Amino acid sequence: EPQIVWLRRDLRLCDHPAFTAAAQAGPVIAVYILDDETPGDHKLGGASRWWLHHALEALDKDLGRHRSKLILRRGKVTDVLPKLVEETGAVCVHAIRHYEPWWRKAQGELKDEIPLELHDGNYLLPPGSVTTGSGDPYKIYTPFKKSMFQAIDGFDILPEPSFDNPDSWPDSDNLSDLDLLPTKPDWSGGMQDFWGSQHGTSAAMEAFEDYLDIVSEYDDKRNLPSEHGTSRMSPHLHHGEVSPRMLWEAMSRYTSDGATTYREELIWRDYAQNVICQFPAYGKEPYRDGYDENFWRNPNRGHVIQEELENWQRGETGYPIVDAGMRELWATGWMHNRVRMITASFLIKHLLINWTHGEEWFWDTLCDADYASNATNWQWVSGTGVDSNMFVRIMAPLSQSEKFNAGDYIRQWVPELSHIEGDAIHDPEEHGCKPDDYPSKIIGHKGARERALETYRANKD
Ligand code: FAD
Repeated sequence: EPQIVWLRRDLRLCDHPAFTAAAQAGPVIAVYILDDETPGDHKLGGASRWWLHHALEALDKDLGRHRSKLILRRGKVTDVLPKLVEETGAVCVHAIRHYEPWWRKAQGELKDEIPLELHDGNYLLPPGSVTTGSGDPYKIYTPFKKSMFQAIDGFDILPEPSFDNPDSWPDSDNLSDLDLLPTKPDWSGGMQDFWGSQHGTSAAMEAFEDYLDIVSEYDDKRNLPSEHGTSRMSPHLHHGEVSPRMLWEAMSRYTSDGATTYREELIWRDYAQNVICQFPAYGKEPYRDGYDENFWRNPNRGHVIQEELENWQRGETGYPIVDAGMRELWATGWMHNRVRMITASFLIKHLLINWTHGEEWFWDTLCDADYASNATNWQWVSGTGVDSNMFVRIMAPLSQSEKFNAGDYIRQWVPELSHIEGDAIHDPEEHGCKPDDYPSKIIGHKGARERALETYRANKD
């Protein structure tokens, strides 16, 4: 009897407990539903759509090796899935459990309507697996990490299952019907150049194996945006082309400090998920009191503030490291982590604009845009989140740029500055070599810093 596998951010065949369970139970119909209603204001952003198109294409090819195919539909899952169950006579829908608040709600509703079996599989351990001594979920990363290391003793990775096909296939939309790729204008050229054909499980694992050759250098290089020092696995992980367990296991023979730090980063991803499980609105609302709209300079309230937000979005702030990051993001759908922190800090503290505007922009422009990781990191930088308040830690973009040797990175992403040699690249205005076609700083560092601290102090009183 047919089994449906309902796929979302788990676009792979191996280490997929729902797929494996379906394969053991009967002929498998794999389904992806493009649903722009259920996520509300977190419907898929532009860059994620671009990535999704290629991930679905790769998955369909992988299914093709089993003489199977991916069934595509669009619409609200709570409408589409029950209809599909009826159409196909499927006796069970298997899916990996998702923790975004909208998916939790939809999963609950579907459970009342169709035979839905949920499996854990997108995280190292299911959120909530490790708890504090008093049995509560962790709020703070460091003790969470310690417990995770204690709890994890390697993983048995599920191989790609063999499975039967149904006697007949339900109708499917064509991939192009989903309109996931940009057309007018097509802004995806930079993404194509950056990622090439690195889509789908095999390509991702090959890239990761290559990366493992240099994982021992992770500690030294991960903060240097001019180097290719991080794995760039985040979009693959977000869309589930690989599972974090697969990466963890692939690293099992690596014992360097770099490999341990890399595992800690995978644990950050689990941590973020634990946070949104506890605080589902984390992507929209500050956890901490006192950071409502009155605290921030609101772009809706003034033309100048709106313009500053746009300067930041376009990479035209006059701060080379900030501009390089924002332009890298726009071109490639990805940004180096150190620069994500610098650009986020600049928006929040230098411009004093609510982090939610940054969260929204990243949501639309990142190929790895992830409700939990995005929210957790934005709230961490802004000091509004569950961990200690970081608001007063104001990153100085110019010294960050020098400290982390971002010269070549700036030359790559800000072509107006590509001819500037030496340390002047970090602050051409100060060195008197700012070209006319590069903007002056939209705000001075010292004044912005004072304003932020003053606002913070006033808010505390
Ligand atoms: P690596 O350094 O190779 O790390 C390996 C993996 O560990 C990453 O792929 C990622 O899955 C995980 N990881 C690493 N750092 C973090 C972190 N701080 N939080 C959570 N997971 C982490 N990451 C996203 O996946 N989606 C987002 O939407 C996102 N938004 C962010 C917003 C801000 C303001 C900041 C400061 C960070 C954000 N990050 C986000 C975290 C981090 O920047 C990216 O995961 C990382 O840059 C991805 O590159 P990589 O794969 O080369 O990372």
